[in-house]
Amino acid sequence: MALRLDATFLIRKMKDLRNLTFRRHRFKEKWAASHPKHPATSLAQQQFDITYNTQLGQLWPSVRVALLSEKKYGALLNNFCSDALVEHLLSLGCRDFLTDINTKGVECDSEGGASLPHLSPNIKCVVFPRGDITRFKQARPDASGLLSHYLMDAASVLPCLALDVLEGHNVLDLCAAPGGKTLALLQTQAIGFLCLNDASVSRTSRLRKVLHSFIPKALLNPEKLRVTSLDGTKWGEIEHNTFDRVLVDVPCTMDRHSLMEDDNNIFNKSRTVERRRLPQLQLDLLMAGVAAACPGGEIVYSTCTLSHIQNVGVVQQAIHLAQENHGIQLQVVDLRPLTHMFRNTFDFAPGLHVGEMVIPHLTANFGPIYMCKLRRLT
Ligand code: SAM
Repeated sequence: MALRLDATFLIRKMKDLRNLTFRRHRFKEKWAASHPKHPATSLAQQQFDITYNTQLGQLWPSVRVALLSEKKYGALLNNFCSDALVEHLLSLGCRDFLTDINTKGVECDSEGGASLPHLSPNIKCVVFPRGDITRFKQARPDASGLLSHYLMDAASVLPCLALDVLEGHNVLDLCAAPGGKTLALLQTQAIGFLCLNDASVSRTSRLRKVLHSFIPKALLNPEKLRVTSLDGTKWGEIEHNTFDRVLVDVPCTMDRHSLMEDDNNIFNKSRTVERRRLPQLQLDLLMAGVAAACPGGEIVYSTCTLSHIQNVGVVQQAIHLAQENHGIQLQVVDLRPLTHMFRNTFDFAPGLHVGEMVIPHLTANFGPIYMCKLRRLT
């Protein structure tokens, strides 16, 4: 009996072993089939090591470490929500980086028309201090269902500040989804009419959801706001010389995402053509934004990449083409007074010819965010 039990035991064990081996084998096959030899994140890393080492020199190793580490968020406070969240966040050690500003030693460049920038007192974005990597809690709805805050890269607020929306302005947000910058613009409560557009239908519906979660219904009426899903490159043909302010927040290589996530990664082999076409798409979008602005109007171009080609390169081409092909003269507005005010919160790339760029740092892991402001003189 004991012997038979042992034999049964042995047979069962052998079966188990066979199953184990079989499963392990199957697992290996699946792994090999579903995992590309060169994941998109590795390709992005290789590409960035080559380009950014040349572009950023000795800054690159520290930017690289930051990009590969957990990013830091800011909480854009929603003025339309009745929950007084700010006191709670301040008690946790957060501060509103828009009130904690440095105004000493701001240099003015009369050519670029720079002066101390006007900042809307209604945009509030709180961050944890430098070096503090505490995470924010998810927002909760108030009694009317509106959420208290929107978590976003705090540096993304800077292009909205640079846009400098004034009372009654007619504003176009050409690539608006999912809507972080739109929310910051709406917090100003100064916009006369806001046009929101994004070519992607699914992302536009996400934008609508964001709007409904943060903005009261009364402000979402078609007399104040319009949402479209059009190809932004064609905007100048539809509506030109119209807007006081245009935000052109273009699709780009999204450096942080490309280094960290294989999903929806533009360095995926299947998206090589799309990636190579990015600078042309960015230029077309910026040109459309320029055409849509009225003479005297201002345009802010922004990206979340460190790439010189997608940033300064695109802006310089747009300035040239606007003059050559359309007789539109563009002036680059000096944003140094603005960035100077926020140098306690963000690290900025030194010595950029055109525009300003937040570079990630382990103690202030925001960005990358590039922005350039153009004024239409004609
Ligand atoms: N401004 C947004 C925000 O703050 O949440 C982020 C915009 S994201 C960087 C770029 C957007 O451009 C994407 O949502 C993408 O769908 C959109 N896009 C891509 N091609 C476009 C085009 N031809 N016209 C308009 N939007 C486009």
